Amino acid sequence: MQDVVEKIYEQVVARNNAEPEFHQAVREVLESLGPVIAKHPHYAEAGLLERLVEPERQIIFRVPWVDDSGAVQVNRGFRVEFNSALGPYKGGLRFHPSVNVGIIKFLGFEQIFKNALTAQGIGGGKGGSDFDPHGRSDGEVMRFCQSFMTELARHIGPSTDVPAGDIGVGGREIGYMFGQYKRLRNSYDAGVLTGKGLAWGGSLVRTEATGYGAVLFAQSMLATKGETLEGKKVVVSGAGNVAIYAIEKAQQLGATPITFSDSSGYVVDEAGVDLELLKQVKEVERGRVADYVERRPGARLVTQGSVWDVPADVALPCATQNELDGQAAATLLRGGCGVVSEGANMPSTPEAVEAFSSAGILFGPGKAANAGGVATSALEMEQNSGRTRWDFATAEAKLTGIMADIHDSCVAAAEEYGRPGDYVLGANAAGFTRVADVMLAHGIV
Ligand code: GLU
Repeated sequence: MQDVVEKIYEQVVARNNAEPEFHQAVREVLESLGPVIAKHPHYAEAGLLERLVEPERQIIFRVPWVDDSGAVQVNRGFRVEFNSALGPYKGGLRFHPSVNVGIIKFLGFEQIFKNALTAQGIGGGKGGSDFDPHGRSDGEVMRFCQSFMTELARHIGPSTDVPAGDIGVGGREIGYMFGQYKRLRNSYDAGVLTGKGLAWGGSLVRTEATGYGAVLFAQSMLATKGETLEGKKVVVSGAGNVAIYAIEKAQQLGATPITFSDSSGYVVDEAGVDLELLKQVKEVERGRVADYVERRPGARLVTQGSVWDVPADVALPCATQNELDGQAAATLLRGGCGVVSEGANMPSTPEAVEAFSSAGILFGPGKAANAGGVATSALEMEQNSGRTRWDFATAEAKLTGIMADIHDSCVAAAEEYGRPGDYVLGANAAGFTRVADVMLAHGIV
């Protein structure tokens, strides 16, 4: 790291005590900026970097609600409005017991550059709660969402801040939150949330978009080597929205995904994942991956280790941050893996990223590879503004075009700064310069 960025990083660590994920995300971006600042020193002026690493606004609030037994529960809610240079703050809400301010800040920081890469005019933000929806009744989830929105509503709006889903927040939760927002405001502001149901302002392809996009990004990376996904064996982690639709798109492109996982273990299905069964178990029944194995002869559940122990050509980490460490990366490389495309946010540890880059394999970092989800959220906002609705083919063609543009921007930036094929540098440099140019144009705000 250059002196100037090292100093900023030290300030971030000192000012944001005990937030290791945020430090990690900042370090990863700042490390890429050395060659960018060497070539364009004005990016280190006007306090630009100091402003970039400090959220514009951070909101932490109490979320009281009553559970089914009549007991009062208290959770903590967060919204970090990180950067609005390019448009309204945009980013998901995560409901998971691991959520704390450092996690939300890391996700919000990543979102700034990811959203810039989409070129859809959206700033960066993130929010959530340490609420755990697992094992909660619909009524409990509804009361929680209503209480959460009662506070959040005063901070958001279609031109101010537009939340969406993330881990633990899907169509059901967005529905409860939208209902409460509409009641509080007496205004049908469809564009205040994305990931809505199709009957009330949602966009076709939004559900599929993150997973589809991660696979399209892998396909674009392979194309630079004259290869395709046809016939490739794929390991996927996770069993949520991102993993399921990554599996679907990989199958459409002729690859064979053979794994998925949740907190109860991972499934290996050498014959290729039965997507209909997986959707039935996870989307309809809200069950565990073990339920899949019971109904699928030949599939096995493994409760030790991780999907990265299974040899494959392509790896798609679609679960959560830091799920793929240096050791797992070494195992994947030994198994012949030549492509990693991140469906989750920051799933590879710095050691894993280092292992992939020294092995010279194709590595698509999350802020580029998983940007299809938020890009399609921006398409949902566009349809809401125009009071219109596109068909599946139209929305998917737009997503495909955006992913190809993101890929090409990363390739061009990596070349410009002297490291062809380095998608980490490419994504960080391309995302950063778009935000930085606009921050400079707006003055010191
Ligand atoms: N949570 C998703 C992400 O990490 C999507 C956010 C959105 O659609 O606003 O990018």
